[in-house]
Amino acid sequence: MKRLCLLLLSLTLFLGACERVPGEQSLSFFAMDTYMDLRIIGGDAALLASLKEKTEALEALFSVTRENSEISVLNRDGHVIPSEDTEAILKKALALCERSGGALDITIYPALLAWGFTGGSFQVLSPAESQELAAKTDYKKLVFTEKGLELPGDMAVDLGAVAKGYTADVLARMLQEAGIQQALLDLGGNILALGTKTDGSPWQIGLRDPAGEGIIGRLSARDEAVVTSGSYERSFQDAAGRRYGHILDPATGRPAESGLLSVTVVGREGLLCDGLSTALFVLGEEGAIALWRASSDFEMILISEDGKMLISEGLQDRFQPGENCPYEKQIIKRNEN
Ligand code: ADP
Ligand code: MG
Repeated sequence: MKRLCLLLLSLTLFLGACERVPGEQSLSFFAMDTYMDLRIIGGDAALLASLKEKTEALEALFSVTRENSEISVLNRDGHVIPSEDTEAILKKALALCERSGGALDITIYPALLAWGFTGGSFQVLSPAESQELAAKTDYKKLVFTEKGLELPGDMAVDLGAVAKGYTADVLARMLQEAGIQQALLDLGGNILALGTKTDGSPWQIGLRDPAGEGIIGRLSARDEAVVTSGSYERSFQDAAGRRYGHILDPATGRPAESGLLSVTVVGREGLLCDGLSTALFVLGEEGAIALWRASSDFEMILISEDGKMLISEGLQDRFQPGENCPYEKQIIKRNEN
């Protein structure tokens, strides 16, 4: 199965920029540590190449592992004069940190690093060690001043939870400026659907089973982002077989164990959906539902460890669970009774 996937993947990459259906152009490439697949209806190879170039330029600004990115300079020197894109992503990300009550915290990097989620040499930290790192996590200490961005010396920023969403929004804007109204941008599972397919029907987005293989349902999407976060994506196991996921709870400095397997967020903006999917995963079922009820700019699907699939009311007519979906479907209503 793995080999087949690799074969298919290399085939997709090999095909690179090509036409899938008449009038449709596509380009696949690796960036921001993931596979990206851009499909546009209308436009040409040069436009696709400019989208790839912009993605790479944003990665060069935001990457926490590239020595000279603006984020690395900020983390090393404690200050940086941000470019327009860095300023924009940080301001929007900070607003989501605030809105999620700190469940999203872009200053979580010291803890991520210590657990080995950047770099790959994983280790399980003790609760005391994790707590010490949690104490170094506080997005409120990242401030914009006249001199630029300032961050205390022992803190560090990571934009892993929001970079792909922000990038999707930037690419969508470039497409609109180029007069393209139909496209499907897949930035490593961060989907942005513009307009419709060639036949005028909405794009169909498959939802992966967070606990197994295959697709558990399909969502119709049009002019919106669909972003899923889950611990299954990047995780490691200790000697006893216990799994640790790459989404950390800023309150404890440990992988979030909120009872959720995955969170899918649907909304107008890529960055909003990206940031919120991570935040809701940390918050867990109750917290996620409370935040959804207090908001009007997103819908969501939560898959819980105890086998439930909770679908927010606004998606009930356009999410179609698959025949073999193993989860028990429940609709979450706006009003509790
Ligand atoms: P993915 O990047 O796999 O699509 P997410 O959007 O959920 O998944 O982002 C997870 C990434 O965000 C982690 O790899 C890490 O870089 C960072 N991160 C983990 N926990 C948090 C958190 N609580 N707040 C902000 N960023 C986080
Ligand atoms: Mg995210």
